[in-house]
Amino acid sequence: MTPELRAVLTEALTAHQVYRCSRCGWDEESIQWWQCHGCDFKSNTFPIKGVNRVVLGEAIAAEHVADVIASLPGVAVIQLPEPDDDHGDGIAFWTAQEVGVADGQEVVR
Ligand SMILES: [Zn+2]
Repeated sequence: MTPELRAVLTEALTAHQVYRCSRCGWDEESIQWWQCHGCDFKSNTFPIKGVNRVVLGEAIAAEHVADVIASLPGVAVIQLPEPDDDHGDGIAFWTAQEVGVADGQEVVR
């Protein structure tokens, strides 16, 4: 990972913090939802009773951050297929491209 990419990801993750909101009223069901500090993201609402707020909040925040990272301008997120060769040195390679990954760094032969 380049320092520039790390800075872009850090900035995005810092900006998109998801926090919980709730509303309680006499005449309506008490509800909770999550919003983002960095954009107009707002989750669906959920009843307060019977919902594990921590687990639900973590899942909602993780999904939002995944969407944010996948949509960053100038950043491509791809899922690689299984490598098909290691040249005997333990570095995984995709032989068609001769590009591999070792310790999180791209290796080109
Ligand atoms: Zn956001």
